[in-house]
Amino acid sequence: MNGWLSKFRRKYFFGEEVIKKNKQILTNMGTRVLVITGASSKRNGALNDVLEALHGKEVVVFNRIKENPDLSLVESVRQEFQNYNPDFILAIGGGSAMDCAKAIAVLLENQSLVVSDLFNPLRYSKAKPVVCVSTTSGSGSKVTPYSVLVVDGRKKGFAHEAVVPKVAFIDYRYSLTLDHDVTLSTGLDALSHAVESFLSLKSDPLTEQISLQALKLAKENLPRVLQSPNELEFRKNMAVASVMAGMVISHTGTTISHAMGNPLTTEKGLKHGVAASLSLPFCLELYESSKTETIKRIFGGDLLSYLKALGVRLNFTPTEVEIERWAEEMGKDFHLKNTPGRFDKEKIAEAYRKLFEHFTV
Ligand code: ZN
Repeated sequence: MNGWLSKFRRKYFFGEEVIKKNKQILTNMGTRVLVITGASSKRNGALNDVLEALHGKEVVVFNRIKENPDLSLVESVRQEFQNYNPDFILAIGGGSAMDCAKAIAVLLENQSLVVSDLFNPLRYSKAKPVVCVSTTSGSGSKVTPYSVLVVDGRKKGFAHEAVVPKVAFIDYRYSLTLDHDVTLSTGLDALSHAVESFLSLKSDPLTEQISLQALKLAKENLPRVLQSPNELEFRKNMAVASVMAGMVISHTGTTISHAMGNPLTTEKGLKHGVAASLSLPFCLELYESSKTETIKRIFGGDLLSYLKALGVRLNFTPTEVEIERWAEEMGKDFHLKNTPGRFDKEKIAEAYRKLFEHFTV
């Protein structure tokens, strides 16, 4: 790590045209850059801003990141750039691009690792520096040590200090081109993070206040931004909510309701944020914490109606066998460590059944 980085670790820039205004930060980070992104960064202008800021540097772009990246994608990017020795890795996009970039950053720095070693953070201590240019307002990955990938058809995450982005650029104008479904899903992800970090057993009075502020912003602004997607003020507020929520989940983690969405994403193709929020109204009744009252009050006592009013719907009913299998898996999930109350297989299966009863049309 060079002197500049050790002095300015974990910086973020928030606002309009932050890349242009702070391009010196990028140019000081090195001369060889690997950009990891998907197709949308061309449309929203982020890729162009990055390439302009890096003018004169040696830049290669991998632009084939898809939603819910799996290990084989990570492995193919690694193979392709095995011999390219970037000074830093720059992710442009939402959680998928950023989470993938974090994994690549570890693998390019530690050539002897195999991809499955990513999930054994004791096996490595360093990674290539990661820079994030955020284009959605959901995962908060730009400020967290988390990376979530798909492994054997299941979502699996790792957390490591070394992959916390050294710099994040959050220009909410890039989110103006997000379509309705992505806006809804990413917004629900941020909202769920805020609720769950507030309730997490790892929360403290400081994180609680940040969670509540993030929640109020997300709750107020999500319906507005869906109604008026071109209104920059609402996009900005959702971006603030997602960064705040990302900051707090770095401390508190998320809870079982988030994890319960994972099989719905990997097996039924639901977007992460929608999947993660579905069980929340029912888990609120099961969490053993007096703090659930605060959450209920914020939603006027009815989180279920709030979600329905946003248009959250399901068009399938799983079999009882599927529900049993998911509940069994969730009964052993590591998110239970952060979750207030005792959640066994039966309780979780009950929450799944209620969720389908209320959301499936
Ligand atoms: Zn999430």
